[in-house]
Amino acid sequence: MEDNIPKLFGTSGIRGKYQQEVTLELALDVARALAKYIGGHGKTVVIGRDTRTTGKIIENVMIAGLMQSGCNVLSLGMVPTPTVGYATIKKNADAGIMITASHNPSPYNGIKLWNADGSAYKQHQEHEIEKIVYERDFNILGWDEIGEVYDISSFCDEYVDAIIEASGIDSSKPLKVVLDAASGAGSYLSPEAIRKSGMELITLNCQPDGFFPGRNPEPNADNLVELMKTVKATGADIGIAHDGDADRMIAIDEEGNISDFDKLLTIMAKEFGGVVVTTVDASACLDTQMKKLGGSVLRTPVGDVHVAESIVDNNATFGGEPSGTWIHPDFCMCPDGLLSALRIIAAVQKNGKLSKQLADIESYPTLRLKVTCQNDRKAAVMDEVSQHFSEKFTNIAEILTIDGVRVQFDDDSWVLIRPSGTEPYIRITAEAKTQQLLDEIGKISSDFLDNLI
Ligand code: MG
Repeated sequence: MEDNIPKLFGTSGIRGKYQQEVTLELALDVARALAKYIGGHGKTVVIGRDTRTTGKIIENVMIAGLMQSGCNVLSLGMVPTPTVGYATIKKNADAGIMITASHNPSPYNGIKLWNADGSAYKQHQEHEIEKIVYERDFNILGWDEIGEVYDISSFCDEYVDAIIEASGIDSSKPLKVVLDAASGAGSYLSPEAIRKSGMELITLNCQPDGFFPGRNPEPNADNLVELMKTVKATGADIGIAHDGDADRMIAIDEEGNISDFDKLLTIMAKEFGGVVVTTVDASACLDTQMKKLGGSVLRTPVGDVHVAESIVDNNATFGGEPSGTWIHPDFCMCPDGLLSALRIIAAVQKNGKLSKQLADIESYPTLRLKVTCQNDRKAAVMDEVSQHFSEKFTNIAEILTIDGVRVQFDDDSWVLIRPSGTEPYIRITAEAKTQQLLDEIGKISSDFLDNLI
């Protein structure tokens, strides 16, 4: 967008440290801008927050900003992000707000906005909000037009019942599940959903706590050691971990090993079949499996908003990022870590042990390189990449330039050359069906970048 309006939103809403990037003044202004954007007086907004210590105070100023603009507010309290998306649809609200910094540590917080159809705000909509904030073009009303606020925390029961119903989980076949909610937004509703679906549950870090005392909210191997050990020690069938706002889910197999993120995505995608959507950095194992089922894979830039847009545009059955951010369009366009958990449990009920399902998906040799490149050189270097690869290889099926450059070969092998958004690097990620092709891709990529930089 070609103007000088300061950017507030990043790839996943507004995010930053409390009192630094995310101030109460900004939260108030964003609420006022959202109210203006959706039409002001008489409109309705759903609001929720994760467990961060700064959640309530940010929520309070945002509610004030909405009310003074004439909007009515439906307050869910501390809930997972997907509950906000779903409530926005079911309550016929005009927008939703989730106050969360997702997987970031405790000092951070953030604001994510949702459309009436449960989808995340797109870039052009966020830009409209930025514009209203920058121009301070608010519509603040007098004493006789102030909005109202209602507690709708009881809606959580409806949400839990709806995800259980949608998941296809069989309550007559109880599995033993260990859940680690990171003391984040999934702390209440995720255990409730798993228990209510008939499963036997052991919980870790399911007491809400904005200091995240049990573990860092990013669900990766380093942070999930306790969960992995507990799954193994208790003889559980599966372990489930969420990030701080529970829009993501990662599973641990019955042997206590963390799933390969791409393979877990593939297991879920196989349950849907047809056209599925993922991002440019996801593995070819998904393509191979979907082709076997007569389906296909579409790719988008990194970010769940892009995945959601492509699902709608292409009428896809499912979409997700390897981070465990999965969108189930038959339910809601908001990524849902709780529904993802129930559906992966259902897939274990149906298809057997998770370790076996993961092992059945092929792995290919992969390569990750990082080449130093100053920010002002990145654009020039990226301009040359496509041509370079077209000259060097004859077996290219497609070159995607939607987010970096992704070269896909005839056999689904691929290389992604992508500049880091924040650091002075260009990253090369490649996955090839043979070690020989991988070596060739690696050599050609690094020679090319060394010459240009
Ligand atoms: Mg998240």
